[in-house]
Amino acid sequence: MIRVAHQGSTLWWESLVDGPGVRLVLFLAGCKHACPGCHNAWLCNPQAGESMRESDIVSELLRSYSSGWHDGITISGGDPFYQSIELATLLQLVRKAIPSVNIWVYTGYLYEDLLPHPAFRYIDMLVDGPYIAARSDEGQTYRGSGNQRLIPLRTASSSPRVASTSLHASLSNSNIQLRMLPAHSLQPNCDR
Ligand code: SF4
Repeated sequence: MIRVAHQGSTLWWESLVDGPGVRLVLFLAGCKHACPGCHNAWLCNPQAGESMRESDIVSELLRSYSSGWHDGITISGGDPFYQSIELATLLQLVRKAIPSVNIWVYTGYLYEDLLPHPAFRYIDMLVDGPYIAARSDEGQTYRGSGNQRLIPLRTASSSPRVASTSLHASLSNSNIQLRMLPAHSLQPNCDR
């Protein structure tokens, strides 16, 4: 079981800012970092959201991902590594269900402090480090502050399945609706 932010019927949120392309994002509960300026403080509570079976989360993912227009998935929070063993279990199931899916994970820990970790074998890109508000204006992409790093953990085996041209196509498609996160509740992790 893993603790997730699950509001109404939405479990996997659609986002353009949590990695390349159009992504499905899952928010996990729990974070110890207490970064000043965190926009997701309510999710730092380990009891936020609700507990779900990892297999049920993957089933929900498959329902959304089968639409064919998402470029990958992102695990955010909170800090996904607060529930690190459950995270590894979840990602193992995701890789088994969709071997080629591009997976990004955000964490407030440093990569070096997590080594070695069983979840790393399933992650394409790790975005590490706490949010530092004083460095939030450094013009970085996909990061909330300039200290955070984009660390590729896998080779080209699962690059984003659609190039940037598809993003344009997706946004041009009138059938597509991007569900934006409510500003008062769910916001991107680490103030992205
Ligand atoms: S900014 Fe990220 S790492 Fe820092 S307290 Fe908030 S969720 Fe945790």
